[in-house]
Amino acid sequence: MAHLEEVEGIVLYRRKHRERDFLVKIFTKKLGKIMFFVRGSKRPQGELYQAIQPFTIATFIADIRSNGLSFLRGAKNIEPKRDLQLDIFNNAYATYLSALADAAIEDHTPNYKMYDLLIEGLHLIDEGYENEVISNILEVKFLEFFGVMPNLRSCSVCGKTRGTFDYSDKFHGILCSEHFIEDSRRLHVDPEAVHLIRLFAVIQMDRIGEISIKESTQEEIRRLIDHIYDQLVGLRLKSKKFIDNLYKWEDTLKKDN
Ligand SMILES: [Zn+2]
Repeated sequence: MAHLEEVEGIVLYRRKHRERDFLVKIFTKKLGKIMFFVRGSKRPQGELYQAIQPFTIATFIADIRSNGLSFLRGAKNIEPKRDLQLDIFNNAYATYLSALADAAIEDHTPNYKMYDLLIEGLHLIDEGYENEVISNILEVKFLEFFGVMPNLRSCSVCGKTRGTFDYSDKFHGILCSEHFIEDSRRLHVDPEAVHLIRLFAVIQMDRIGEISIKESTQEEIRRLIDHIYDQLVGLRLKSKKFIDNLYKWEDTLKKDN
């Protein structure tokens, strides 16, 4: 017998299935990530059709089965994220962050902390905050859910929390300038970038104001985060590659002009 329940959630992605049907992955607040089957609608303007657009937050009326596919019967309190759907850069970041959230945790396992972080992050990008910075903040915070958060709090040798720091694979964390000597293969990252990544790990999403970061520091932040993900997470997400390519195309366009 069908047991319908109302669950709040955010659409991570939507895939077409056959002619008119959809497979929709939704990160629900109380039950974790669930794959839903949505039978094609003859009227694509319907409420459910609106609600299954990527990154939309809604209360879904769902028939949830523990074995096999679950089904969506309706939706209400629909909050679309238009800018995330229409702007190519914001869309690329939202797609990547959703894929990252999908990769970090098991299905059918609630994770309130990650749910709130993803929703707040996507909301800030939709509101016009710097997409790359918000994405970097979530990348750093998500390391915890992959179970590989490096020591960003203090020097991995002496525990000092203030000063100039670099990142070391050998120590799985940061080193203060007095202990750079402990790892000759330390990353030689711009100390300002290390400082900001330490801040990203602890900053609360509702405290984020306008952040202005120099282009060269931003590149160093990207280099360090990409390095940590390569070394410790080892994901190869198509959506990340797409963002990297967007930057390459942009650079090429700048050079040509
Ligand atoms: Zn030290």
